[in-house]
Amino acid sequence: MSALPHGPADVSRTTPAEQAALDARYDALARAERLLPIKITGFYRRKLDEEIAALGHTDGPLNRAARPPRERFGVSAGHEVADWVDDRTNMPVPGSTAIIHKYADRVLFMPTSVCAGHCQYCFRQDVLTDQHEAGRTRVAAELEALVAYLARTPLVREVILSGGDPMTLPTRELALILRTLKGLPRPPAIRMHTRTLAFAPKVFADPERVALLAEADARIVFHFIHPYEVCEEVEAALAGLRRADIRLYNHFPLLRGVNDDPDLLIDLVTRLDDLRVRTLSVYVPEPIRFSAPYRIGLKRLFALQDAFVTRSPSWVNAVRFTLDSPLGKVRREHVASWDEANGLVTFRRDGRSFVYPDFPAHLDVPGDPAVMLWRRPGRPAA
Ligand code: SF4
Repeated sequence: MSALPHGPADVSRTTPAEQAALDARYDALARAERLLPIKITGFYRRKLDEEIAALGHTDGPLNRAARPPRERFGVSAGHEVADWVDDRTNMPVPGSTAIIHKYADRVLFMPTSVCAGHCQYCFRQDVLTDQHEAGRTRVAAELEALVAYLARTPLVREVILSGGDPMTLPTRELALILRTLKGLPRPPAIRMHTRTLAFAPKVFADPERVALLAEADARIVFHFIHPYEVCEEVEAALAGLRRADIRLYNHFPLLRGVNDDPDLLIDLVTRLDDLRVRTLSVYVPEPIRFSAPYRIGLKRLFALQDAFVTRSPSWVNAVRFTLDSPLGKVRREHVASWDEANGLVTFRRDGRSFVYPDFPAHLDVPGDPAVMLWRRPGRPAA
């Protein structure tokens, strides 16, 4: 990678004109490096425009999540890999890239590689780009492979629909998947991971889809990353899901410059809890290629976790801070040793270890709370 075009101490704001140039430059980078292209729904675009109007620049949290910040082009933390969680070695069905089996009791099923919008920080860009290049997922054939796999793998009790985003599927394909799974002799529990509610809440206003989710008794796990994503339209869609007695959860990554502030995290978890959405986990950003703009050093992350825990009641601070890894999920208590000189942290779990390349402190410039929480009284825009 090249030297830093903008050093980490550079706090000059990105003007809308500069951002337009960054967006255009990113198109070429995405093609060359197999990253996800920029994709923003009309609904989310209005949020981005509102943020720019209030701040006068594009370094606000939602813009930073959806459009490339300057550091996307030149900052590397080293030790970055394409597929940190090693999805490809956990694909047990030859010829299928839609089934991932890592934990004995759960299987991930990815019936589509399409998302309603693209997140700059996406940790699955590599596999998703492969799938985009391979063309549209053949849902019926992949579902048939999944059913056969479940029949010969009796320990599996849950199917997690992910992607891509399964809520982007046409209703008939969603119905086929949910009804097929629920009609099996040993029907698995169904969990659905989706960010579509943040990008296009009208998808969840469709009574036929809500009825399908309710009929399948699916648990829905949203990926809200910031309290400003939880707006009136989202609230209305959540009310519809609650009326259908659907179980609702959230989990999300901790992202530098987007949500790396304890008060912001407490706001998000509290707001969702008020709407009967229970937050399960906060994820540590993974060391994948081009992830430096979003990553956080572990020491700062643990300090942030401590502040989050001590400032909030138990129904907020029960949220787990988790790192996904090739060995599965690990947390702070799994740190076995810390090589400070080389920035390498060894995690050990169930007798197995892996080494995590920590994010360097000199690059770890915290997000500015005045910018990330620009609507908050007493926190004027920078
Ligand atoms: S919605 Fe999820 S899978 Fe899709 S781009 Fe965003 S983070 Fe990646």
